Amino acid sequence: TGKIQQQVIQLSTDIQQTANQIQLYLYIALAVAVFIVVFLLYFLANYITKPIEALTLAAKQFGEGTFIPVNLHRRDELGLFAETFNTMGHDILQTKQSLEVELEKTKELDRNKTEFISVAAHQLRTPMSGIKWVMSMAVEGDLGEVSDELKHHLKNGVENADRMIKVINGLLDLSQLEEAKAKFQKESKDILTLIQDVVTTLAPNAEYKKVQIKVSAPKKKLPQVKVDSEKIKSAIHNLVDNAIKYSPAGKAVMVGAAQVGSEMYITVSDQGYGIPKDQQHRVFEKFFRGKNVVKVETEGSGLGLTIVKDIVDKHDGKIFFESEEGKGTTFTIALPLK
Ligand code: ADP
Repeated sequence: TGKIQQQVIQLSTDIQQTANQIQLYLYIALAVAVFIVVFLLYFLANYITKPIEALTLAAKQFGEGTFIPVNLHRRDELGLFAETFNTMGHDILQTKQSLEVELEKTKELDRNKTEFISVAAHQLRTPMSGIKWVMSMAVEGDLGEVSDELKHHLKNGVENADRMIKVINGLLDLSQLEEAKAKFQKESKDILTLIQDVVTTLAPNAEYKKVQIKVSAPKKKLPQVKVDSEKIKSAIHNLVDNAIKYSPAGKAVMVGAAQVGSEMYITVSDQGYGIPKDQQHRVFEKFFRGKNVVKVETEGSGLGLTIVKDIVDKHDGKIFFESEEGKGTTFTIALPLK
């Protein structure tokens, strides 16, 4: 039994030793595994995540307007990608710079053009007023007796001179607006008061054309709007004047104001001749006159709406319209309330 006991002890010592060895190997294997994982993570971070992060950051900065090239110095796909990104960035930057130069040139040309129109209009106004004045005097008989026939022709001449002076004044208004010479003085104003002023001024025109003007407003008091009152009045005046001009007798013109969200809407609606669909895209262009109205209404320079749009733009507002030929037109000016 003593021998067996000794063998058992020996065996258990062996087992213990083997167990210790296995434990040691396990620890070593674990250490190796941990090392491999750490290495892989490090590799991933350095070789894949970091360059992608650098590229993402560069793309973001590029989107915000700053171009910083990404230097990866690698020959793999990521390196190629960075290189493509850099080339693209350089190209876009160059295009942007040349576009800026072109834009500056165009602006300069536009300034010269505006100045030319302004000078030409000034030069034309004085002699034209002179011609009108002489013809008016002749019509009145202040320059001696004139026959009825001559008077008729002279009256025609005065009307034409008047029309010409209106065009010249329109050009002057426009060039002044474009030159931003006309300083805008914005103050908080009650829009309905301004509308009422315009309607009062235009009442004789409406009466003459047998067109009724109605002003509509919501019951609730409207907030005040920051505007240059003279300029906005002139814009509303143009719209109401057009609505009267381009409506046949017996129709009505509606002028209204309403708050829509954070904007003040000023609407001018008529039941007049309307604007043909195929010409609507040209409405705010200089000298545009609808083919359907030139026959019925010979007066007009085609500058009014261009001036209106300019005034509205300078108030950070919007202008839009809806029109159907033979049914009527609604122009809306939307002014920001903040
Ligand atoms: P003008 O009235 O001096 O011709 P505008 O610039 O004010 O110039 O208007 C340009 C053109 O737009 C007009 O000639 C007309 O054809 C069209 N238009 C403007 N307002 C109206 C309206 N309320 N109804 C029909 N046509 C209009």
